[in-house]
Amino acid sequence: MQIIRGFRDILPENIKLWQKVEKEAKKLFKDFGFDEIRLPILEKTEVFARSIGEATDIVEKEMYTFPDRKGDKLTLRPEATASMVRAYVQHKMYASDPVRKFYTIGPMFRRERPQKGRYRQFYQIDAEIFGVAAPYVDANLIFLLNELFKRLGLSDLKAHINSLGCPECRPDFQKALLKLLESKKTELCADCLRRKDSNPLRTLDCKVPQCKEALKDAPTNLDFLCKECQDHFNIVKKTLKKQKVEFIEDKTLVRGLDYYTRTAFEIQTTSLGAQSAVAGGGRYDLLVKEMGGPDIPAIGFAIGFDRLVQVMETLNKSVDDQELDLFIIALGDSAIEEGYHWSTDLNLQGIRTEIDYRGKSLKSLMKRADKLCAKHVLIAGRKEIKENPLVLRNMNTREQISISSDNPVADIVEFLKKNN
Ligand code: AMP
Repeated sequence: MQIIRGFRDILPENIKLWQKVEKEAKKLFKDFGFDEIRLPILEKTEVFARSIGEATDIVEKEMYTFPDRKGDKLTLRPEATASMVRAYVQHKMYASDPVRKFYTIGPMFRRERPQKGRYRQFYQIDAEIFGVAAPYVDANLIFLLNELFKRLGLSDLKAHINSLGCPECRPDFQKALLKLLESKKTELCADCLRRKDSNPLRTLDCKVPQCKEALKDAPTNLDFLCKECQDHFNIVKKTLKKQKVEFIEDKTLVRGLDYYTRTAFEIQTTSLGAQSAVAGGGRYDLLVKEMGGPDIPAIGFAIGFDRLVQVMETLNKSVDDQELDLFIIALGDSAIEEGYHWSTDLNLQGIRTEIDYRGKSLKSLMKRADKLCAKHVLIAGRKEIKENPLVLRNMNTREQISISSDNPVADIVEFLKKNN
């Protein structure tokens, strides 16, 4: 049997970078005041259709949507923000204090064309801040992303930022865009002709080369920002500069989801080819209200976990793989029996220990210790057990000591602590 196309297993030999990223991210989230939230993978379709936008690629053609046995329309989540807002509103989390910061890590599903860096089940690290309109939190989220990537040793990443305006200034921009779209009607693809009426902004996102060419001089949001949006954007940029976060002002950045207002951003890399966005996000000040809650501003980002790990793999960021603290070489039945109990006691004390029960020779067990990259071996032979002592050897330095077999666990712990 084979896995579904576009899905993949993340095997134990590849998991270390995932764990490293998760550990660093969780530490940063904690220090920056974010609480973890865990949300369901399946939601009613309307949660995504209404928030992400009916005329987006995600909703139009990429969602895994199906009726359940009673006919309700359900969707495997294609992203986390919509569920996050649904939960914030449903549990009236704003009631005691509208200012909340959450993060969540988990799988998302989009039926896109699979290719390197693009999967049908992929993982995101998602963070959202509710209840703060100030531009400082926009800068703060971008700063946090930048800091995480720095801690992971990644340097070829750059923030691209843009402002998508607000209901005050967007109509003027849309009018100008529509005018251009009308004049280029004959050059647009069928999808864009439809989008022209349903959601003109999405034409700027079209990947068809002919559309790209026709719209290369299209007006941008930045040309039409109202005073409030302009001031907001200026403070974001000023704050980032002061915090020494490098960024590119990118007026072509529109993002693939409809709910964004004002600041939108992406972190892009040069090391992944076409799929260059490692993280993306932005402000969505209208969404909480649109989903039935009060008028509360919000902003968030999602890191593409798979792509981030891929960048780290490309840059050869590895994790120390000599993880086995101790391998017990037990020669003979009584040594195996005692060794079993020592190894369990050592596991309980936080020492990663393995023992081989097959009764193999010293030579073949030494080979196995090498294969497992054990930092230490404990040799308990027939003779040694009877006569005391056991031999404990550091495989890196070759230093070794003899220890009594009466109660060796305490001596082993002490030796390993000293040698680590
Ligand atoms: P989005 O939710 O579309 O804003 O995407 C946020 C990030 O998730 C992107 O920058 C990508 O790194 C990642 N991402 C989105 N779609 C996929 C996919 N199909 N496969 C892998 N990563 C993805």
